[in-house]
Amino acid sequence: MDTIPEYVVARLNRAIAEARARGVDVISLGIGDPDLPPDPALRKRLALEVQRNDAARYPTNHGEPALREAVSDYYQRRFGVSLDPATEVLPLLGAKEGLAHLATAILDPGSLSLIADPGYPVYAGGPLLAGAASLPLPLLPENGFQPDLSAVSTEAAVQARLLIVGFPNNPTGAIARPGLFGELGAFANQHDLVLCHDHAYADIVYEGDPAPSALADPGFRAHGIEILSLSKTYSIPGWRIAFAVGNPEVIATLQRLKTQIDSGMFLALQRTATWLLGQTDIAGPPLATYRARRDLACTRLGEIGMPVAPPAGAIYLWVPVPTDESSLAFADRVFEQAAVVVTPGNAYGAAGEGFVRMALTIPEDRLAEAIERIGAIL
Ligand SMILES: *Cc1c(COP(=O)(O)O)cnc(C)c1O
Repeated sequence: MDTIPEYVVARLNRAIAEARARGVDVISLGIGDPDLPPDPALRKRLALEVQRNDAARYPTNHGEPALREAVSDYYQRRFGVSLDPATEVLPLLGAKEGLAHLATAILDPGSLSLIADPGYPVYAGGPLLAGAASLPLPLLPENGFQPDLSAVSTEAAVQARLLIVGFPNNPTGAIARPGLFGELGAFANQHDLVLCHDHAYADIVYEGDPAPSALADPGFRAHGIEILSLSKTYSIPGWRIAFAVGNPEVIATLQRLKTQIDSGMFLALQRTATWLLGQTDIAGPPLATYRARRDLACTRLGEIGMPVAPPAGAIYLWVPVPTDESSLAFADRVFEQAAVVVTPGNAYGAAGEGFVRMALTIPEDRLAEAIERIGAIL
């Protein structure tokens, strides 16, 4: 545990709680936690499923067949990808759980994982827990926040067992460029490694086409899995519903590990998810609300001298630090002097230095006030 840093959200939550206890009016743009409630019909369905007599029994790690079939049907309908419900679908207790355990399942101590940087902190935390290392795949603004596989050394490529990316990307908001998943597939084929695409923002895209599944690319699919989370799509992050889908060997390995760690997803949640994935009229992410917040924040940030391009997807602004301070020094000063929480970019990897992340999960008036407060201390 000495090698594992305190999780960024845990540290922020503690600082926020301390300041609020002192009576400070903290505005948090720190945590990407959907603030609007889920569709009432969805909540009603969960309430119904909880009432069933067998709902409290032990589930299985593999999940009910009806759930795996619903995921498979959903993938066909939404992404044009066909999955074998018996061998290519595994329920997860959230994408976070799946990502962390995937590293333990795939990586030997001393091996290497190639991870998007900046990226979701568990991409690095999972390998650390597994006694493995991670090598960043820098997502740089000059490359449109896309990975550059030609920059990976042969030595690293040979040592790597796992590669993780996620698009629409947290924190940059970038969408995968056309052809990226095919390139990743060819790379994995050449170097014999497992690919993972984290699809947490599958349904949060503001412009252009809906985000594709990485599994729609046959080369990616041959070597990889995708992790689909319902947290951001249906504003249900606390329910902990996600799925690993794709390569059956990887799915079986992850399932075998999980049988030693958890006992599967609460049956009421499995059955609610089974129902949900078959519906077409349940409200998805509040895109119009997020887009309005995004546009307001981008305009106001430009006015205070922190220009930022509107992201194409996800629920964050990835904002260059407007002073010569480090990301951490700037974020700390914004917290101390303006009582606004922004996340320092280096919490998402070394390539995040020079940026801060602002989450769009608070109402417009508070967002505007937060930016005004930051403007006053610049
Ligand atoms: C929110 C988020 C997750 C976590 O999803 P859960 O299913 O709630 O665990 C995973 N990856 C990224 C990129 C995220 O932003």
